[in-house]
Amino acid sequence: MNIEEIYQVYLQHPDVQTDTRKIKEGELFFALKGPNFNGNSFAQQAVDAGAARVIIDEAAYEIPGKTILVDDVLTTLQQLAAHHRDQFRFPVIAITGSNGKTTTKELIHAVLSSTYKTYTTTGNLNNHIGVPLTLLKIRDDAQMAVIEMGANHLLEIKGYCRVAKPTHGLITNVGKAHLEGFGSLEGVKKGKGELYDFLRERGDGTAFVMWDYDYLRAMSRGIATIVSYGTGEADVVGAAKGHTAFLEVNFIKPATTTIQTQLVGDYNLPNVLAATAIGDYFNIPMEKIKRAIEQYTPSNSRSQLLEKGSNKIILDAYNANPSSMKLAIENFADRAGSNKMLLLGAMAEMGAASVAEHESIVELIRRYKWQNVVLVGKPFAPYANEFNCFESSDKAAEWMKGHKPENTLLLIKGSRSTQMEKILEVL
Ligand code: ATP
Ligand code: MG
Repeated sequence: MNIEEIYQVYLQHPDVQTDTRKIKEGELFFALKGPNFNGNSFAQQAVDAGAARVIIDEAAYEIPGKTILVDDVLTTLQQLAAHHRDQFRFPVIAITGSNGKTTTKELIHAVLSSTYKTYTTTGNLNNHIGVPLTLLKIRDDAQMAVIEMGANHLLEIKGYCRVAKPTHGLITNVGKAHLEGFGSLEGVKKGKGELYDFLRERGDGTAFVMWDYDYLRAMSRGIATIVSYGTGEADVVGAAKGHTAFLEVNFIKPATTTIQTQLVGDYNLPNVLAATAIGDYFNIPMEKIKRAIEQYTPSNSRSQLLEKGSNKIILDAYNANPSSMKLAIENFADRAGSNKMLLLGAMAEMGAASVAEHESIVELIRRYKWQNVVLVGKPFAPYANEFNCFESSDKAAEWMKGHKPENTLLLIKGSRSTQMEKILEVL
């Protein structure tokens, strides 16, 4: 079967599944291969569970009338998504960047959904499987699509752009994230810049650009339409009020108004500005934009403010890298109150930069002279005579049982792998 023929099958069975454990009646199952499994071997199981058809790439697993044999299941998934995308006649907005992609995507989705039928990435499904799956979820009633694209090495975003063919795009920022795969900050810039390259090359692309960041201004040069947002001179202008529990943004453009978010941390300001700029660009009145952003609450341990007993906790245990770690610590330092406890987990995927980057985080912490600092993970082990250092969040949680804070503001942040949220359980 060629892609056009498989597309006809997809139109009959548009619910795509890649996980046999979740398969439902009538779905189209793609038997992907992973490092530890061969999806092909689940073909029969998928059929038994009700899969309408199963896409496989090993003839040994053929089931007459049920399987579709292709050269490579992953390539077919991506080609099918690209083919589906070619039918769209509405804006496809791609988002990449080092930090804040999901938050920005969700804010944009909240804003656009107030007025348009908008499809977007579920959770954080932003990779070589998630991007095509997101596209294949889009149905006839769509008026907008917002696609998150994550990357940890060069040419990844370029590949996703070939599939999703964005008409509009946004790079949240370029920071020190995934240095292992990108090699250097220059590498990260180049990698994220592949989105701008795609928009530039298509001739009629539109980029939403954070105008405060000189590097984004420079990188976006040559793109047909640029919509700017920022704190200074830009199409959409707003500033954080500062020292508030939740971020409040005073807007001057497109209208004078204040948006009271439910987001913790002034580092969310660019995310709010971006969502406002996109809403305004697509003719959504500021009143509606404001309402949508004010109603949005983050989930999955991303910048949440929790209260437990007499303590307040900023839970940011979803991920961490040098850029987001630094901002979170500075934001924590800016907050009112003298009883503070800092709990940081190590930053993953740092490659050769790991030692130096953990050292600079420690240097930053030293500056604030906090009494209560808990550090988790091997990269922090060298600082054990200065701070409370633990190998794992389990060990830190154990220690916390005997050192429970009261009337304290806590910041909990770390890479996903350090599982810093476990500490919450003992509070
Ligand atoms: P991932 O690479 O895992 O997909 P992401 O780019 O989607 O991450 P989010 O999940 O939105 O990012 O946010 C993760 C964390 O990044 C937040 O909890 C916060 O600490 C930090 N962060 C969010 N927005 C920004 C921003 N604009 N600048 C810097 N750091 C940010
Ligand atoms: Mg994300």
